[in-house]
Amino acid sequence: MYPSIATVCLSGTLQEKVSAIARAGFKHIEIFENDLVSFDGTIKAAASLIRDHGLQVVTLQPFRDFEGLQGKDRTLAFDRARLKFDQMSELGTDLLMVCSSTHPQSAGGITRLANDFYELGELATQHGMRVAFEALAWGKHVNDYRDSWEIVRQADHDAVGLVLDTFHIFSRGTDLNAISNIPGERIFLVQTADAPSLSMDHLSWSRHYRCFPGQGELTIEAFMDVLADTGYDGPLSHEIFNDIFRRSEPLQTAEDGYRSSQFLLSMLPEVKTELPAPSQLGGFDFVEIATQTQHLEALQSLLRAVGFKQAGKHRDMQAEHWQCGSVQFVLNSDPHFANQFLQRRGTGVVALGLRVDNTYAATKRANFLGIPIVEPEEVDALHNMVGMQNVDGTVWYWVDASTSQHAFDSAFEPLENNRNGPAAPLITQIDHLSLSQSYPDFLSTLLSFRCLFDLNMAPAFDVFDPQGLIQSQVIHNDDLSFQLAFNATDAKSTTSARFIQRANGSGVQHIALHTSDIFSCARALVDAKIACIRIPQNYYPDLQARFGLEQANCEKLAQFNILYDEDEHGSFYQLYTQPIDGRFYFEFVQRTGYRGLGAANAWLRASAQQISSQPDQA
Ligand code: MG
Ligand code: MG
Repeated sequence: MYPSIATVCLSGTLQEKVSAIARAGFKHIEIFENDLVSFDGTIKAAASLIRDHGLQVVTLQPFRDFEGLQGKDRTLAFDRARLKFDQMSELGTDLLMVCSSTHPQSAGGITRLANDFYELGELATQHGMRVAFEALAWGKHVNDYRDSWEIVRQADHDAVGLVLDTFHIFSRGTDLNAISNIPGERIFLVQTADAPSLSMDHLSWSRHYRCFPGQGELTIEAFMDVLADTGYDGPLSHEIFNDIFRRSEPLQTAEDGYRSSQFLLSMLPEVKTELPAPSQLGGFDFVEIATQTQHLEALQSLLRAVGFKQAGKHRDMQAEHWQCGSVQFVLNSDPHFANQFLQRRGTGVVALGLRVDNTYAATKRANFLGIPIVEPEEVDALHNMVGMQNVDGTVWYWVDASTSQHAFDSAFEPLENNRNGPAAPLITQIDHLSLSQSYPDFLSTLLSFRCLFDLNMAPAFDVFDPQGLIQSQVIHNDDLSFQLAFNATDAKSTTSARFIQRANGSGVQHIALHTSDIFSCARALVDAKIACIRIPQNYYPDLQARFGLEQANCEKLAQFNILYDEDEHGSFYQLYTQPIDGRFYFEFVQRTGYRGLGAANAWLRASAQQISSQPDQA
């Protein structure tokens, strides 16, 4: 099998699409009929444009409303097919993709439709062409691949084959098992798409919400398993209709598409044995914050207040290593570094360390997936960490215990007195990170993480910011030592959108640190005069009534502006600092068994932040 992508996946003109698809690494392309019809030039010119980019057309699609017609409608359908075959010969492809009819006059019946396809097969053969039949999930008579296969089987013509499209199969919940029995050579095309789990009509779901495999919630791996059984060896072609893709940079979409194709190939048995499985993430190892000098002191005092100590000083750069137990920060205020990152983005998270079980395996897998890698020599580093260059500009290094230790030992001069912190540190780990990203960056980052690592998707939810809706998605590992929240929004004044505006792009909006004692932590922040987000006091009587909290306990929560939630597993406390430079901020959490990131309180946090930021906006 080999990767391919349909032009309909991308925004732009045919020229822009073809160029992006070729640059992303594809060699095969599906031409969506509208892109050809709207092309301002002859079919020959379109063909040379495609050829000049080193691309081969796997199919022209879709050919609609063909089967089940009678009289004049039927004659016209065959006339249209003749026209398409002529165009295809100029375009350099021999495959016409026919999707099942939604024509109001079309009649059903397997035998009738098989006869239509036999006749189309005869016509195709005269033109040196082939046709492939796809069951649309909303087809009038054919909406199940088992029916389209039966029609192809009964047509029994060498030039007539089957299309399998993952969206149409999964969206109707059709059983996959029958696929295993279809001979691979009778399948002419496989189209792939993922999608979020939504409850809506098939057509709207398909037209607006398809996404690349790895970005949604369909069990694509199960499909790839049965597909491998067939012996199919043709194009594995993305066909995505997505509102975000329609307005995104075509190159970014095409590159994501290429990664997603590699992800699909990684599921094939012969590749699986060669390629390392997705790495197990074991949490965050460190966070590096690039800081403008005017914010350095604020960051130092915040860390100091909750028990961090400076453990080292960088040997080459103006950068500090801060530590509390196993939680590590790098505060980088180096002027040279500033030219590269700070001037463009301002104070914010520039790099992160992720704990993995095998760094070599993570690198090998990233290379296979076409994820851009940052090697230490490229960044002139004293450490030997390898990581991924994320689309939002941050670098996510993967480290194991020894590479992390080595990285800090080699790059930082230890400050001996400060190396050993308290036996029971107040901050025990990085609980989670929250990203505010543009929609394209969100989909891109989500794809990279899900292809590279073994992660679960929590159900998506909406945060009601007073200025608009924020869509939120959390991914996490099994033991919740790694949790990453994505926030994306179209509303331009939400807290997430304002972060992106001020940070000149997508990035880490907050870092949540887990504390063993939320009240001590809150007290320490007050003592150090570190401002926290003020929570409207109306929240607390409500909270008390909802969970039956004791009066004194609730008053304490109110005094320190702490949010609270419970689930069937335990309790959760949250406290937020005011954003630094109106942008990224810290959250302190304490959880006892609770799973999740406090989704129930997210709207209140957003409201409180909007109130806090008002004088700043004026
Ligand atoms: Mg399709
Ligand atoms: Mg959070």
